[in-house]
Amino acid sequence: MDFRQIEEKWQRRWAEARVFEPTPEPGKPKFFITAAYPYPNGAIHIGHGRTYLIADIMARYHRHKGLNVLFPMGFHYTGTPILTVAESIAAGDVRAMEDFKVIYDVPEEELRKMGDPLYLANYFKELSKQYMKKMGLSIDWTREFTTIDPEYQQFIRWQFKKLYDKGLLVKGRHPVGWCPKHQMPVGAHDTKDDKEPDIGEWTLIYFEGEDGLIYPTATLRPETVLGVTNLWINPDEDYAVAEVDGRKMVLSLDAAFRLSFQTRVKTLERARGSSFVGRKVRNPVTGELVPIYPAPFVDVKTGTGVVMSVPAHAPYDYAALRDLGEVRLIPLISVEGYGEYPAKEVVERMGIKDQKDPRLEEATKEVYMAEFNKGYMRLDVADRVGLHLPEPARSLLRGFFAAFIAGKPVREARDRIRAWMEAAGIGGRMYEIMNKPVYCRCGTEIVVKVLEDQWFLNYGDPNWKRATKELLASMRIVPDEARAQFEATIDWLDKRACARTRGMGTPLPWDPTWIIESLSDSTIYMAYYTVIRRIREFGLKPEQLTEAFWDYVFLGKGDAAEVAKAVGADEKALRAIREEFSYWYPLDWRNSGKDLIPNHLTFFLFNHSAIFPKELWPRGIVANGWVLVEGEKMSKSKRNVLALGKAVDQFGADPLRATLAISAEVDQDLDFRANVARSVARHLEEIYNLVVSTAERATRDGEGLPEMWLRSEAASLLEKAAKALDDVAIRQAAVYVLYDMRRALERYLEMVEVPSRAVLEVLKAWAVAMEPFVPHLAEELWERLGERPFAAKAPWPKLAADRRTLLAVRYADRLVEDVAKLKELRKGAKRAVIYVNNNFAWVKAAVKARDVRELISAGVPGEVAKRLLDVARQLDDDFKALIAEVDDFDEYSALAELRTFLSRETGLEIAVYRADDEKAPDLGGKKRSALPLRAGVYLE
Ligand SMILES: [Zn+2]
Repeated sequence: MDFRQIEEKWQRRWAEARVFEPTPEPGKPKFFITAAYPYPNGAIHIGHGRTYLIADIMARYHRHKGLNVLFPMGFHYTGTPILTVAESIAAGDVRAMEDFKVIYDVPEEELRKMGDPLYLANYFKELSKQYMKKMGLSIDWTREFTTIDPEYQQFIRWQFKKLYDKGLLVKGRHPVGWCPKHQMPVGAHDTKDDKEPDIGEWTLIYFEGEDGLIYPTATLRPETVLGVTNLWINPDEDYAVAEVDGRKMVLSLDAAFRLSFQTRVKTLERARGSSFVGRKVRNPVTGELVPIYPAPFVDVKTGTGVVMSVPAHAPYDYAALRDLGEVRLIPLISVEGYGEYPAKEVVERMGIKDQKDPRLEEATKEVYMAEFNKGYMRLDVADRVGLHLPEPARSLLRGFFAAFIAGKPVREARDRIRAWMEAAGIGGRMYEIMNKPVYCRCGTEIVVKVLEDQWFLNYGDPNWKRATKELLASMRIVPDEARAQFEATIDWLDKRACARTRGMGTPLPWDPTWIIESLSDSTIYMAYYTVIRRIREFGLKPEQLTEAFWDYVFLGKGDAAEVAKAVGADEKALRAIREEFSYWYPLDWRNSGKDLIPNHLTFFLFNHSAIFPKELWPRGIVANGWVLVEGEKMSKSKRNVLALGKAVDQFGADPLRATLAISAEVDQDLDFRANVARSVARHLEEIYNLVVSTAERATRDGEGLPEMWLRSEAASLLEKAAKALDDVAIRQAAVYVLYDMRRALERYLEMVEVPSRAVLEVLKAWAVAMEPFVPHLAEELWERLGERPFAAKAPWPKLAADRRTLLAVRYADRLVEDVAKLKELRKGAKRAVIYVNNNFAWVKAAVKARDVRELISAGVPGEVAKRLLDVARQLDDDFKALIAEVDDFDEYSALAELRTFLSRETGLEIAVYRADDEKAPDLGGKKRSALPLRAGVYLE
């Protein structure tokens, strides 16, 4: 079967008839769904394809439910993702060009022009669009845009003006992830692998050396300063003596570089770490003089490269000092379940040999967690402070420690000591990328910069967080488990730099040297889809799209006539644009990959809660899992990125769609395998042949039990599929429609000699139900079944289900199983004589009864009750539900009607008697022993 040929035919017809280009229809309910628009820094791959397919299936399904459906698409040109690729091509990066050649078949002469970011973006926008069309996505292309269109820029300016007016855009001093090469902030979409830099904070404690230099130690546990026995420096690495904020400090060369983005640092001289070993420094809190020891385990790329040693509470320090034979333990913290020296205890318990033992990591974690969660500062810590101070300073300091530190929980003491040291000038702080290394797209490792005078979106604002949580609580989230991740992200987010110095996009309205970055200009654009077509139709120019214009269109502010006059537009046009927005908004579903939960999707919530009134807040989010290809993560370096268009060419759009739909449920990661796609293609071809041949053979009239059964079974399956689609259980729905329905039709064909014309109704219903998953095949079948114009526009099928018929076939199935078992015992049998005990009331009583006594009191004879109860208990829930729903059921006539089917299934000649038919012979005593729902069977 030539899938591509059918697909092209229907794609052309849909486009010609403008099937997916909705306009508002007042009175008709709407369904508005969007999926995250792609960056055209390459064409879309099968991972995008999965997200768009899920949205498309939901869109198509809701069209069948009679909703007016809008599913639009745009392209995200903003920021560094596109620019970086273009720059590397312009710089002659052969590998980047090779990637494009291999993955997307980009011709050589095109590649040469891709040093121009706009050329590159336009090329891949067109290619991606072509892929989406090939895939059969029911997108309304009349609303397509890019984020550098002047109209879009006006819209983003308006959004930022709103945020600014609400005080949510703030200027100030704040740490950000920073590319030293590009001199600009970097967020998740500016980094390799889209990794969000996680910014953490070290406490610095200034130990003053006898040499007059400051040795700033970096620690996450400032309270342990009270138990320091020595400092560590890596003897084999490069250190610097540098002026930091006016003080001469010793720190690793790498630390001096990193710290220079956070404060004033001037390197005065360089020296090996070994040159500081043996010097003595004073603990600024206790006043004790302690030595500097060498330690190869000190990582100069973390913190300052100067580390304090607290052997009683830090397993690494204990192990290293034990190796040197210099252990001196100062206990500070008491923890339930541990002795005076938790670090020593754990190291010994685990049998750790020396400082190179990898299990020290685990030991450190254990001690850290135990002390943090249930540790208390010992009461005697106050005696240990201020040794170097004259009275009364010493007593004052001891008094402070006795009152505010001693006896307090560790977590409380930690914060107090840190704040006190910082205020006293003996401590400071240093920011660090905690999930380092994180690399800019240009390959440079990211550092933390403290930005002054930069614009931030203040996601830390407590009121904004509260409103966003309220919005989240009002939404449907698929899968359910993602809700907790959204909540955590809302809690965790703080100020976020919202502009960059490079890349395409919209300049900040009040500071045009900055370009609004890509995760900040993509948060409410779903609203823009609803109006852009009208804006173009009415010929409005970008400069007419002022703040007053958007205020009126999106917020209903102001008077249409006045606004129209102010912007120089027709009042009718303005009203029509506002009406279109009001019709489509709010957004019903937002679809995206789950990797966007910690950034884009949460920003989407924040910005909607800030800008729009509650009744326009979005209603649902679907976050789908990853796509692997043949068990592997897709990556450019492995060159295994499967471009969507290539996958369609290789397998066909419908086979690809069906494979993506059935390979994993929405929330699960999906492993795409070519052999599965090929077998799905065969399956679809068989469905096509089955439907066409059944329709051709259906030459007789009349509706008997087999036809009623097929219609009932189909009704039940399609009802279940609809329920699954309502729950966004796409895979489950696809199994009902593409697999269980086929099985039902095949069973029907086994039941009859010649199919009846009555089944055409079921075939048509099936074609419609198939349409969301395999729309081209569905349209082709719809046409073959004599229907016009489009399956895509047909209502979701409603078939009448007859429960009695479903029960009859379940019953016959059981009988076939029984006969098959008997046949094993009596090989060579030619004929089955079946005795039916037609007493359905007893069966109904048996599925309800809890015990034999209850069954007997319901009127079932004692000699039958126990056996009948055993029969009832073996039935599954579906079967029991059918029995409960059906009032009257005649086993005898059901079997008589299904005789052809029984005969074919068992390979035997079938004779059916009523068990109470006195004229019937009682072969093998089977007539006497027949029970309702368990016929007596005699083989001969
Ligand atoms: Zn960079």
